[in-house]
Amino acid sequence: MSDYIDLTGAEQSFGDTDAQREVRENDRQYVFHSWSAQGAINPLPIAKGEGVRFWDYDGTEYLDFSSQLVNLNLGHQHPGLVQAIQDQAGRLATIQPAMANDVRGELAKRIVEHSFAGARSVFFTNGGADANEYAVRMARVHTGRQKVLARYRSYHGSTSTAITLTGEPRRWANGTLDSGVVHFHGPYPYRSVFYSETPEQETERALAHLRSTIELEGPSTIAAIILESVTGTNGILIPTPGYLAGVRALCDEFGILLIADEVMAGFGRTGHWFAFQAFDVTPDLVTFAKGVNSGYVPLGGVVISEAVHQTFDQKPFPGGLTYSGHPLGAAAGVATFDIFAEEGILERVRDLGERVVGPRLREIAERHPSVGEVRGTGLFWAIELVKNAETREPLIPFNASGDAAAPFNAVVAACKQAGLWPFAAGNRLQVAPPLIISEEDLVRGLDIIDEALNVADGYV
Ligand code: PLP
Repeated sequence: MSDYIDLTGAEQSFGDTDAQREVRENDRQYVFHSWSAQGAINPLPIAKGEGVRFWDYDGTEYLDFSSQLVNLNLGHQHPGLVQAIQDQAGRLATIQPAMANDVRGELAKRIVEHSFAGARSVFFTNGGADANEYAVRMARVHTGRQKVLARYRSYHGSTSTAITLTGEPRRWANGTLDSGVVHFHGPYPYRSVFYSETPEQETERALAHLRSTIELEGPSTIAAIILESVTGTNGILIPTPGYLAGVRALCDEFGILLIADEVMAGFGRTGHWFAFQAFDVTPDLVTFAKGVNSGYVPLGGVVISEAVHQTFDQKPFPGGLTYSGHPLGAAAGVATFDIFAEEGILERVRDLGERVVGPRLREIAERHPSVGEVRGTGLFWAIELVKNAETREPLIPFNASGDAAAPFNAVVAACKQAGLWPFAAGNRLQVAPPLIISEEDLVRGLDIIDEALNVADGYV
């Protein structure tokens, strides 16, 4: 990876405790952090990144199995992305959204062509949460209905409607900021709330539950159902057979729009442009962000069907953002499509998932009593930890913190000590490295996880 461009010049700073101290002090003093009690955090100062690795100021190297919030699909400092941004900055760094721009139009065209049959246009946003906000707003205006159904065990972002759509603890302290949101359960065979014994039964019962939710909430009041095609942060939950097609059928029956949130699962994470493409389903609106340009410049958006587009053909769309379709982000998005083709990213993700990660994790699950289940696809996997494999009692209680979370924190610390930065969520270690990872690095990371799980076994 020596051809990766070092723009940070931070190499000289390795071992430079003054530089490290200044970064840390400025952060502690002036940066207000997401999701945290400000007095209780002490973030690691990072000096530079390259490919699948990043380094702190002491020169400690980390293999990144989290892709920086499952975002950095093409890794740090990919020369193609850096070059595209540099070229665009030299040509036209910004232009407001009401004007036509070459890279914005080119990116919209490529996304439409690679998304779903009947896709017509793209509304660009600054990230994933606002993409979901706008998708919901479009669905409400299009249908003239107000309610939106969203699933438990989901994350849709932290702006007002997006955090209300979210079906996990991060919503709790925010209350109900959008009174039109109703939650329902999706399939999760390992911890089925429907007492299912097979994936097929789980599909059938989850769909019956959704039908009943629709009927009790009032079909004529429901604008949309939003779901992550493959649930990300809440456990890499793959739809059970026929589930997404069943949701589509219910949407058609009741005139409800289907919004696929592809913010985390999209752009190659599962080995497809969009995760829903592996299932028999066509959404009406698709939201994306993160992998569209690996987060080098903030960018997200909504892919819009012909029917929804037509609603706004003569009627003005009531919304917009200054940075919608920002040229630097769009240039990096166009480069992403080129790099995916040149480096065969989708094929290698499917291959690495099927040939390397899946078999190795299944083998790990057999050897470690603390592993309840492994599941996933592409380079998107979860290792769910248990205290008791028979009863499926979680290694730590749901939403545990402080001492209650100690066993899980010990496993995460063991990974970090061995040079792996894991994607730790709830009761799970999740495997989500940059999609450019070599087979050798992938195996090395899985070896570290394998070893760290001995710590979890100690709590069984
Ligand atoms: N939707 C999903 C599925 C996500 O995973 C995320 C972020 O992790 C979001 C939406 C929110 O995206 P952003 O943080 O860019 O607002």
